[in-house]
Formats: sequence, structure tokens, C-alpha cells
Amino acid sequence: MDLRLRELRLQEEREFLESVALTEPDGNLEHAGEPMGDSSLDQSPVEEARRGSREQAIVPEPLITDGDWQVPCIPKSPRDASLILEAVKRNEFLRCLGDGQSHPLVESFTLEQSQPGDTIVAEGDDGHTMYIVAEGELSVMQKGRQLRALLPGDVFGELAVLYNCQRTATVVALTPVQLWAIDRQTYRTIITENAKRRRAEVLAGLRGVKPLQGLSDAALSQLLDTAEERTFAPNEVIIQEGDEGRTFFYIRKGQVEVTMNVEGREEHIRVLKAGDHFGELSLIRNIRRTASCRAQDEVICIAVAKEDFQELSPMCAREPEAAVQEPPSLSESRRGSFLEGPLTQLHLQDLLPVFYEDGDQKGRPVILGTGGFGTVELVRYTDEGQDHFFALKRLRKDHVVQKRQQEHVLMEKKVLQDSRCPFIVRLYGTFRDSRHVYLLLEFCQGGELWAKLREARYFSEPVAVFCSACVVEALDYLHNQGIVYRDLKPENLMLDAKGYVKLVDFGFAKALNPGEKTYSFCGTPEYLAPEILRHEGHDYAVDFWMLGVLIFEMIVGRPPFHSPEPEKIYSKILDGVFSFPVFVSDAACSLVAKLCRKRPGQRLGNTSNGIRAIRKHRWFSSISWKKLALRQIDAPTMALLKQGFPYVNFRRYSAAGQVPEEEFSGWDEDF
Ligand code: ATP
Ligand code: MG
Repeated sequence: MDLRLRELRLQEEREFLESVALTEPDGNLEHAGEPMGDSSLDQSPVEEARRGSREQAIVPEPLITDGDWQVPCIPKSPRDASLILEAVKRNEFLRCLGDGQSHPLVESFTLEQSQPGDTIVAEGDDGHTMYIVAEGELSVMQKGRQLRALLPGDVFGELAVLYNCQRTATVVALTPVQLWAIDRQTYRTIITENAKRRRAEVLAGLRGVKPLQGLSDAALSQLLDTAEERTFAPNEVIIQEGDEGRTFFYIRKGQVEVTMNVEGREEHIRVLKAGDHFGELSLIRNIRRTASCRAQDEVICIAVAKEDFQELSPMCAREPEAAVQEPPSLSESRRGSFLEGPLTQLHLQDLLPVFYEDGDQKGRPVILGTGGFGTVELVRYTDEGQDHFFALKRLRKDHVVQKRQQEHVLMEKKVLQDSRCPFIVRLYGTFRDSRHVYLLLEFCQGGELWAKLREARYFSEPVAVFCSACVVEALDYLHNQGIVYRDLKPENLMLDAKGYVKLVDFGFAKALNPGEKTYSFCGTPEYLAPEILRHEGHDYAVDFWMLGVLIFEMIVGRPPFHSPEPEKIYSKILDGVFSFPVFVSDAACSLVAKLCRKRPGQRLGNTSNGIRAIRKHRWFSSISWKKLALRQIDAPTMALLKQGFPYVNFRRYSAAGQVPEEEFSGWDEDF
């Protein structure tokens, strides 16, 4: 490496480490006596400290399916339409989202008028609408300070089209103003419907393509996930005779002329149109292009790369895969326990609180954690004189109902109840009363991986390899059960007493059939996959993207797409460009780059070799997967665990304050 480059990379590394140091909390695990109610819907200072600089997860928000609601459609003059389109193009975040060109989207903006002094959005309020200034001038203020002025063509409040987030600034009209406005429900409905329609249309077209005949719907859908849409200008050469074939094309729009060189003359062969395809011959036979193809007008094609086409097309014979030894069935390797069998016969009354035995909180019940909807307490059950510890997750029903999260809580229960995997926290029972529902969970004594990562700043690669391997096992298990997880991050990984990693928190898990997509917007900002941001439908592939982000965060100390401003995080994710500090091994760089590929169909784990391709990656060469599944590896994470009282690896929280409202709507009957 040349010296200047090396200097640059060292500088970059120093900056990385400084940025990590900036986000590190105080490292002191004791937060005794802090005012922590069990209400944590709004981010409390304690929660903020616990999470460091990270934003909370974004909960899925069901679309309103009220029969009366309709997407607004207001025809625009050419001047208005071009103001909207230009504004979208100039805004980096919206440009990266890449769907501002859509005609129905432009038509759906409604006109709002305001007078001087009117507040359009207020700092701290929930955001539901994005605005484009059509006429007039406005001022942006934060904490009473004026930040900047807004003029015609400027955009504000754009994050609100993605999810319900608090406004970070106030916008006040300085003159009479006219604004083009679009709310999230409208935006999401249009983008999602467009994406669904486009996907169905292309899949129907691909079904008729000869070299793809015989492929199942799921395989066709996978092929489409590897593809990219490409636009060619009139007269542009798409394929040149004699060149090496790299791509297969399916025409969505426009006409393509096919020509061949006959004795030095370009001879017209035929014209292809929408629904036709070309370029497969040289990929199937591994020969050079036998003809040229040129766009006659503007042409839009679905382009599939050679490797992806060859992997999936039944006409491309492939070498059979060398047999890989699968790890033993995970259920075989589960440890015996006195609580085996169907969910236990334990009752809520049988569980006793565990009390702090030292520090300021001595004598108070141990709270292991707090989350969006309640607290997790340490409890014990005494059987023949022996104590068994559990984590009791208590969710406030009023909050669950208020945030319309009933289905997600039921899903969490169902997934946990059906899971038997050493890398997924075990559920031993569920209870309900008028104010709460409860999940009785295996106690993960080692605490949150997030806390260990903040303490260590970043993990050595052997520690990261081990933790990631546990996560791979958990994802493999879940995906085989038809479940996509969608919320991978260090906050949702716990360490058990042996230092093994377990997945907790299944609020965003979702059952999906092969080839099926889901459209809800959820996850944690830095971990969101590009297809989630684009509302274009996502599936199992998001878990592999998130695994890539997680590996990066473990070895670098911060995620690859990072900024204090969420819009910037999203622009970076959509750009898909990130770099590694110099101390990261080549193997780690290679694996993360393969997991964080923009196109879901090309991500390692989601190609035809499935998750085996991840297990076989050289970064995992030190892992014996068989031993891991049997929990026979000495976990390098043990060095991170403190020994002592059972709660020694957890921060301390005060017991719940207010008593929540009673809730009787009956959604929790199965608890
Ligand atoms: P959120 O949705 O806000 O992430 P949540 O309400 O779904 O939170 P969890 O993430 O499941 O709750 O748990 C909150 C915290 O409680 C965890 O981060 C962890 O510190 C602790 N915790 C959860 N489950 C266990 C467990 N099985 N053993 C020990 N501690 C646990
Ligand atoms: Mg959580």
C-alpha cells in the first residue's frame, strides 16, 4: 500500500476510534436510585443512557384499511408537477429513495395554505406529513434558535413519510405560504402498491420466458431479487456482438433492434418489445455475444447478472454441490431441564422476586431491563430446596393497545413458544391479569451483548466470530421455521452463564412463505435494509443484511451506516457505500461486504446455497459448527462476564412506579 494511502487509512482509523469513544456511556453498571417508572413509552433519560446514542426501534405500524379512506388524487398543472419533481430530486434523502418520479405520488400531494405566524410543525410533536414549499417563506427554529429559512422548492418533515418520529424542529410561516403536503399513509400506500404491481407484472412476464421455465414461483422471485432495473437511451447499444456475455435482459418498456454482422454489414434481424427477452444464449452456452442489440426508443429492462442467471436457470447445468455436513438437529442438542415438556405448570404466584443483596438498591426487587412496553424482572422458583432463576417480562396491556402492537406481542409469544433452539431464549410460560401480560423466560445471566460491547468498545475478531456464529445458528433455525426476525442488533442479544449468545425480543418476527414479501416498516435505523426503506417488500434477506451490520458493529464499535441525523443514515444505507478501518481482517471485510449487498438476491445466505454459504465463509474457519450446536466450544465471551450475584452483569433499575390502566378488550385471551 502506498504511504499516502496508508496514512489516510490510519487517520480514518483514529477517527473511527474517536467516534466510538464519543458514544461510549460511563461504563459504570450501577445506576441506583434513578427514577425509572415502568412507563417507558417516551424515551426516559435512563433508557437513553442505556442505549447510548442509538435511536429506539421503529415499531411496525399497520396501514389503515378503513373502507372509506382513499389515496388523494389532485391533478397538477405542469408547473406544479415540475416544482414537486424538482424538489424531490434536489433532496438527497428523497432522491436516494428513488421513487419521487412516480406519477400517482405527484398527484397525491394536497395544497395547504398558512398565514404569517402559523406553526406548521412543532418540535417534539409526532410527525405524519412531509411538505414542499410552493410559495412564501418559512423559518426553521430549534430550541428557540433560528436555524434557516425555507423558500419555494424546499422540502421539510421528510422523515415522517417513513415512520412516526418526533419533529426535531419547529417551522413557522413568515409570509402567507402555500405548501404541497403528503402524509405517511398516502405515501406508503402508493409506494407499496406500485412496488407490488410492478413485481407481479415482472414475475408474470418472467414466467413466460423459455430459459426460466420450470422454475418455481419462489425461485423466480429470488431471481428477481438479484436483478436490477436498467434504463437505456434511444440508440444506446445494450449488447455488442463479439463481446463477452455478462447479463440477461427482460424488456419492460420500449423496443430493441437485433442486428448481426454479415460479411461486414450490419443486418437487421428483428425487433423485440416489452415482454421479450434477450442475452441468454451466451450465458447458457458460455460463448461470446452472437448479435447486437440496440435501444430504438427509451428502453427499460430487468437485468440479471450472469452468475445469478446461471445459478438459477434450469438450462444452465451446474456442478452438483459438494455434500456439506449439516450440524445435528438443534433440538437434539438442547440441554435437559426440570422444566422440559409442554409449557410448565408454574403459576405467577409460584414465582418470587429476587432482591438486590448489595448497593443502594439492597432489599429492592431486581429489574433486569426495561423495554418499549414494560420491564423484565428477575424471579425465582424453589423446587426441592433448589432455586431456579427466570426473567419475567411484564408488558403493559394499555400501552400495547395504545400503540396497536397486539399482533406483535402475540407473535412474540407464538415464536418463542414454538422455538426449541439453544440460541433462542426459552419461554417457560405465559400469564395475564387485568393490567399486564407476562412471558416467563430463561434467565440469561451474562447480560446484554450491547452492554458488553459498550464496555469493551469493540470486540476482538475471535469474540465477534463466536457471537456471530451463535446468531447464524439462531437465524438458520428461525428461517427453517418460516420466520424472519427483522430486529437483529446487539441490544437483542443476551449472553447466558456459559457465554453463549441467545436471541431475545421477537416483537418484529414475522411468518413468511417462500417467495412471499412483507411490507411493514420496522427495525432500528442503523440496521434497516435498503428494501425496507424503499417500501418495496422484504423477506428473509433482511436478516442477512442485518447480520452484516451486526458483525461490522461488533468489530468496529459502531455500525457501518452511521450519523447523528437519521436522514443521513438512510442516504448512506441506500447508497450502500461504507469502508472498513484498517485493523479489520480481510476475511471480515469480505463477509460483511457479501452480507450487505444492496440487492437482496445477491446477499450471502440468500443465494441458492442458503445459509451454508455463510457457514463455509473463511471468517468462520475456526468454528466447528457441530461442536457449537452441542455447546461444546469454550466461549471466548466468558472473559467479558463478571462473576458474583446473579444480577451482576446488569444495570440497576428502580421498581415500577405508577400502576397502569386496566385493559379488558380481550386480545390477550390466549396468554
Ligand atoms: P424493546 O422492544 O424496547 O427492545 P422489549 O420490551 O421488547 O424491549 P426486551 O428487549 O425483550 O424488551 O427486554 C428488555 C431488556 O430486559 C433486555 O434488553 C435485557 O436487558 C433484559 N432481558 C430481556 N430478556 C431477558 C432474559 N431472558 N434474561 C435476562 N435479561 C433479559
Ligand atoms: Mg429489546
